[in-house]
Amino acid sequence: MAQAKTGNKTMRNKELTMSTIQREMAKYNIQIVYYIDRLHFYTDSQTHKNKLAPILKINSKNDLKFEPLSGHEHLSKKVELFQPALETLIAANNIVSGDYAITYIELAIDFLVPNKKALTQLQYFFDRHLVHNRTSKKPAEGDFHFVLTGDKKVECKCKSTCICRTRYFTPESDKKRLAMYSDRPSKTDNTSPCVHIEKRFQSLIHLKKLGLYTLENIIQIDHEAFWQEHLDLRSSNHSELGRLNLFYRETGDRANVKRGQKQWTSINNLQEYLGNNSRCEPAFKNMSESKLEKYLQEYL
Ligand SMILES: [Zn+2]
Repeated sequence: MAQAKTGNKTMRNKELTMSTIQREMAKYNIQIVYYIDRLHFYTDSQTHKNKLAPILKINSKNDLKFEPLSGHEHLSKKVELFQPALETLIAANNIVSGDYAITYIELAIDFLVPNKKALTQLQYFFDRHLVHNRTSKKPAEGDFHFVLTGDKKVECKCKSTCICRTRYFTPESDKKRLAMYSDRPSKTDNTSPCVHIEKRFQSLIHLKKLGLYTLENIIQIDHEAFWQEHLDLRSSNHSELGRLNLFYRETGDRANVKRGQKQWTSINNLQEYLGNNSRCEPAFKNMSESKLEKYLQEYL
């Protein structure tokens, strides 16, 4: 067996964990923070609006609307919470009595960077490696939707990687969505520049599937475990990418690698690339620890 060994540890690619990502990012003074960005739930008449007042005033954007949940009309009030801290969630859980339903959640991960150069480079890293594979079966869109949005009247002046616009990895109609941006400071301290990635889940069914349908569930969210499952980072297997980009005849591995390498160099945004070349998806494997180390070194 020709396996390189260091001590008694076999050198091979390990699954990339959030704690590894955290450790590798820390080498470049990048800090990871997890939080709930938004939470919507409906309550019935047993939870009086006055009882909700203390949690509503915690954030000026928090809101209470008198609108029933469609199909569940007894749930007549909608509560919208922004960046609810753990104490707010615990308070909400104590306040709410009677029936209620959680209908929407946004889970966020912010990568706090030390300066603007790191911001651009880290955004470039995620543009080239972050993937969202749609599970929605709606046929109108491909599996790999991608839109870069922003105010069209304002001209983007970014030199290489755009850091002024939001990336939408899913159509707005999807119940499970992914968005990413880096043009605002982290909501966790309103200061630090960051790359912000968020997953949005809508509807009772999807929250049930996710196991996030009681306030208790939300209080107990293991953010690290959540992102371990939902942060889909890929790296290119050049040989496979070259083979999938064949147009005429089969070529040897060396030619495939060369072709794949050339193709990879031309990719600025992997999700966008896969939107037009979904046949190439198998060439993008889950990123390993050693690949992450290599890429961060290359970009940062
Ligand atoms: Zn821009």
